[in-house]
Amino acid sequence: MANHDETTARRLRLLQSEFIQPGRRGPSAGRTTRPTEPAAPINLGILDYMRASVDEVEQHTRAAAPNAGPRPAEVDAIYDWYREHTAHLEPEKQLHREVVIYRQGLEHAIQMGDDKAIRRHPCPACATWGLFWNAALGKALCVNHYCTDDRGASRSWTLAYLAQQHVARQESSARRAT
Ligand SMILES: [Zn+2]
Repeated sequence: MANHDETTARRLRLLQSEFIQPGRRGPSAGRTTRPTEPAAPINLGILDYMRASVDEVEQHTRAAAPNAGPRPAEVDAIYDWYREHTAHLEPEKQLHREVVIYRQGLEHAIQMGDDKAIRRHPCPACATWGLFWNAALGKALCVNHYCTDDRGASRSWTLAYLAQQHVARQESSARRAT
């Protein structure tokens, strides 16, 4: 089993501390990059977003462990709770859990306006580095002009697919190392 990455929990904590408190716009406000949302509604939107993320994790946990008990009070503890209550599952299902957690980490990064997190993944089709986030599509696009689909459009990938690829890659390198 690959080591447990805390990035997703850290990002969720950051979202909570920097983005949903009244009167604050988060670290992206001072940057020159284009903000993804206007300032006022972002806080409520992020709050709803965080609730939906935590609810999703809770659902996955309860599906595997109906007796898991109440979820933790601290939002970012949800991932450890999920891992703790699914540690008995077969390795394949635990990998799926890591895909869910990693995918949420990418979603959190995008919510914060940090789409650099996407660029750290090679394109699953051509292996070029430098995928970029297309907010309108809700997908990552390949920068390689030659990497197109049947209609000549840039290849695009969902975060779920990138997460699956990432976790599979990590798992196979962990296996090689042992
Ligand atoms: Zn590509």
